[in-house]
Amino acid sequence: MADDPRIQEAHRIPMLDLVDRLDLRGLVRTSGELVGPCPGCGGKDRFSINPQKAVIYCRKCDARGDQIALVRLALGLDFRAALEWLVGPVQELTPAQRDERQRRADEAKRKQRDYERKARESSIRTARDIWFAAKPAEGSPVRDYLAVRGITAALLPILPHCLRFEPEARYVIPVEGQQNRWQTLHVGPAMVGAVVDAQGRVTAVHRTWIDLTQPKGKLVIPDPRKPGETLPAKKVLGSKKGGAIRLSAPREARMMVMGEGLETTATALVAHPYDEPVAYWCGVDLGNMSGIRMKGKGLKYDGIPDLTDTEAWVPPPWVQRLVFLQDGDSEPRLTRAKLLSGLRRAIAHRPGLTAAIVHPGEGIDMNDLLMGAAPVGMEGE
Ligand SMILES: [Zn+2]
Repeated sequence: MADDPRIQEAHRIPMLDLVDRLDLRGLVRTSGELVGPCPGCGGKDRFSINPQKAVIYCRKCDARGDQIALVRLALGLDFRAALEWLVGPVQELTPAQRDERQRRADEAKRKQRDYERKARESSIRTARDIWFAAKPAEGSPVRDYLAVRGITAALLPILPHCLRFEPEARYVIPVEGQQNRWQTLHVGPAMVGAVVDAQGRVTAVHRTWIDLTQPKGKLVIPDPRKPGETLPAKKVLGSKKGGAIRLSAPREARMMVMGEGLETTATALVAHPYDEPVAYWCGVDLGNMSGIRMKGKGLKYDGIPDLTDTEAWVPPPWVQRLVFLQDGDSEPRLTRAKLLSGLRRAIAHRPGLTAAIVHPGEGIDMNDLLMGAAPVGMEGE
């Protein structure tokens, strides 16, 4: 079986084609992976597909593997049946037929890459249009929203340039089962944060829909697909991979503090417990701060970065000390693994850099914590 040429053929099928063919629903693209419910055991976001590496992984049922593994998982087939479902029964091919199949597979791959590149470029263009059409944040509901979150004008007299205001931001979700179709759930005021890449170009916008009548100032949007559940009031449009929202970046800074959320990072910015200039950047999401991690048996919480991920975020060369803020999270071990991965990646790319994770717990002075931060190597497993 192992030398069955059909296995190689199965490996040439793009994962994204397979997602379509298997009609897998609810997968969302994050950090170059598709994440969503497991076709085997359900859930919300426990399952991932890496289309580049053509591997799948479920952190609950531990399903992992290639195209054949995905078909086995989704359709409950054994290896032989899954292989047949993918590439048909065993047949003797002439060398010419085999070449032709290879050619077609290569062509399909090229088309898929082309499609992805175009979709990415188009979403970046849309993000830039939104950013450049947005209004100044000063004097807008962005001020009120931040004040509700404890970041008052007294604490932050000058708003960061990376924040703007969009009076009529459209909140859309994909129409299920249809590619490139969207439905609008809400139109209203939003805070817009610019996500910029290493070259300082805007590649995405991070929007927070504002509703000042809510305790946290954020819009509450019921999920039309899941009764009783709500959708996040924040969304990122464009390509955030490798980017950050630069809340502050003093020219003389040699140290950077990065949090996942805008509010967390802004809180650290106004607290500023250091004697030296510090850049405060928001990493947008944990996956972006982590980059792709090494996955496999026993590696889940190890936080080992996959250094072949060339698009992952890396701090600029001037950063000599990097501190990641750990938000409160339902899965602190996994959060920690992701942060460790990002810090280790930074150290691998910037020799001499020192790094730490701080976790401001409830009722604890952020200042004490920041000052007491332990180096990565000393953090317990
Ligand atoms: Zn599973």
